[in-house]
Amino acid sequence: MALIVQKYGGTSVGTTERIEHVARKIKAFRDNGDDLVVVVSAMSGETNRLLELAEAVHPHARGRELDVLLSTGEQVTIALLSMALARLGCPARSYTGSQVHILTDSEFNKARIRTIEQDRIRGDLGKGRVVVVAGFQGVDEHGNITTLGRGGSDTTAVALAAALKADECQIYTDVDGVYTTDPRVVSDARRLDRITFEEMLEMASLGSKVLQIRSVEFAGKYNVPLRVLSTFIEGPGTLITFEDENMEDALISGIAFSRDEGQLTVTGVPDHPGVAYKIIGAVSALNIEVDMIVQNVGADGLTDFTFTVHRNDYERAMEGLREAANELNAREVRGDTRIAKVSLVGVGMRSHAGIASKMFEALGREGVNILMISTSEIKISVIIQEKYLELAVRALHDAFELAGPPEERIDSART
Ligand code: ASP
Ligand code: MG
Repeated sequence: MALIVQKYGGTSVGTTERIEHVARKIKAFRDNGDDLVVVVSAMSGETNRLLELAEAVHPHARGRELDVLLSTGEQVTIALLSMALARLGCPARSYTGSQVHILTDSEFNKARIRTIEQDRIRGDLGKGRVVVVAGFQGVDEHGNITTLGRGGSDTTAVALAAALKADECQIYTDVDGVYTTDPRVVSDARRLDRITFEEMLEMASLGSKVLQIRSVEFAGKYNVPLRVLSTFIEGPGTLITFEDENMEDALISGIAFSRDEGQLTVTGVPDHPGVAYKIIGAVSALNIEVDMIVQNVGADGLTDFTFTVHRNDYERAMEGLREAANELNAREVRGDTRIAKVSLVGVGMRSHAGIASKMFEALGREGVNILMISTSEIKISVIIQEKYLELAVRALHDAFELAGPPEERIDSART
């Protein structure tokens, strides 16, 4: 008998039929003898609908009242799911974040979980009940409702699993696991049986939106075995875990990519101390996160800088950069938003040389020009022109032989 925390995302509970389907799945686990704590998201589209309502009455609605509003989405699904379970003869109790006492800080709209009280949950489990908890929400020390930021139900689930020392935290979604890359781009992308927390973090932050990044960090920190599976297709999913010997032979686990990049360049700036700070500092001061940074080798006392930011921040970053460039008497400022980032991710890189050259060879063969390169211990990223993105991802997927054997190939599991 195991204690399992399960989380069902918005599409998994998007209609009453789907909620009934989820209830049947949960009942099967119960019949098998497992103790279950189930976290649910709002029905798909609901959080967006609530945000639109808020926007209609106040264009900049945020803070406390927004959280009162947004938390209602999940309250609907916990009630419906518990009713559906009751109908199947499976006793269940629903709780909002505040009822089950998920204590957070007071940062409305992006609160962080501090502690979770276990008594109530343990009491219900002891009575054979399924405990159904609203994801994405908590309560601060003053009794205010808080929410955890978009996608926050994943974090609720992981935090509950950590607090209860659950045997596994299972995230049910509309894909049947984590893939070597997006199956919509590479049709023979393969589902990974396992991936490490570190790799998953890189994949997630690079734009594979299977899990909220914070939930992966949390799971890694508290060593919660995390599994991503499909609500609709039976299968083992992908286990996210610590590195072990079995993983050693895989050089590359996956290819992540993102179109959300903008590239900014300033040329002809003085090549002396403090200049990098002036340039990047001007952008950071606007609260914009800078991703890749490249500085050229100086010539004639001058040098060039190129860096990338999230595409949404591009215009603002450009303004900041122009000001800094003026002050520095720079030659020219230019930028491009038609770029994309492609990254190879794998813990196997640590112990193997030649991955970068193989990557560049594959891109060169396809005539894909590399604009920027950055590396970390388990990742190599390149910036390329956006129009070559799909070509580049396919070429790399082939070059590193990431495709699965035919029987493993699964058509995009999206519904
Ligand atoms: N309902 C929230 C959202 O759409 C939280 C979640 O689904 O994880 O972001
Ligand atoms: Mg989600």
